[in-house]
Amino acid sequence: MPAEEATPAIVLRTRDYMESDRIVTLLTEQAGKLGGIAKGAKASRRRFEHRLEPFSHVMLYFRRRPHGQLVFITHAEAADLQPFRLEDDLGRLALGSYMLELAEALTSEDAEAAGAYHLLAEALAALAAGEANIALRQAYELRMFRWAGFGMQFDRCRVCGESRAQAAAVYFIIGRGGIVCARCRESAPEGGIRLSAASAAALAELGQLPLADASAATAAGADGALAIARFIASVVDRKLRSVEFMDSVIAPATRA
Ligand SMILES: [Zn+2]
Repeated sequence: MPAEEATPAIVLRTRDYMESDRIVTLLTEQAGKLGGIAKGAKASRRRFEHRLEPFSHVMLYFRRRPHGQLVFITHAEAADLQPFRLEDDLGRLALGSYMLELAEALTSEDAEAAGAYHLLAEALAALAAGEANIALRQAYELRMFRWAGFGMQFDRCRVCGESRAQAAAVYFIIGRGGIVCARCRESAPEGGIRLSAASAAALAELGQLPLADASAATAAGADGALAIARFIASVVDRKLRSVEFMDSVIAPATRA
């Protein structure tokens, strides 16, 4: 029998299986994204203590199986891991669900994802402690995409390198993952999404802040939100189901 492994993990998604089992998708610190089966999860409080729900932060014990993709989850416990308490607030639940879904979309099984695990943990802790708002959402998006290798740049022109400090507006080019200045835009065939200087500055700042400080920072306006949404759609090849609900619950960004 394969050795039992243990790792801190955050539950991304669950579904019931057969009479009493549960299939669980987790983002782990040591083992990347994992799919596992918890036999008897619905009946065994001793082994699982109701800890295999979305947002659960657990020490996960599991064995790999020689065949089949799902690992065998032996038990899960809270250990001394920080719990994320979101359930009493619709806005937190909506943004938190989006955070889980985006983390799942940007990670793959059998690939290292410790950085993504730590970012998600940091984001959910910030969400539990603060306000569910657009600034925290944008900061998380920027950080998670940078972790995945898709860093977006908002502080200087991708073509000439000039700082946007003096410009009234810049243009976000999806294919370049960053802004260009008005002068360089004339030679860019893609056109670009016009960003106010305030929105570009907000996004440049949010990309650098610790997530714990993000919800108190200034969010980019609707132009910045549009630029990020288009960029995400160009990278993630699936529709994120939690977006619509989140957009209906969290107040839209104020116009810059
Ligand atoms: Zn330029």
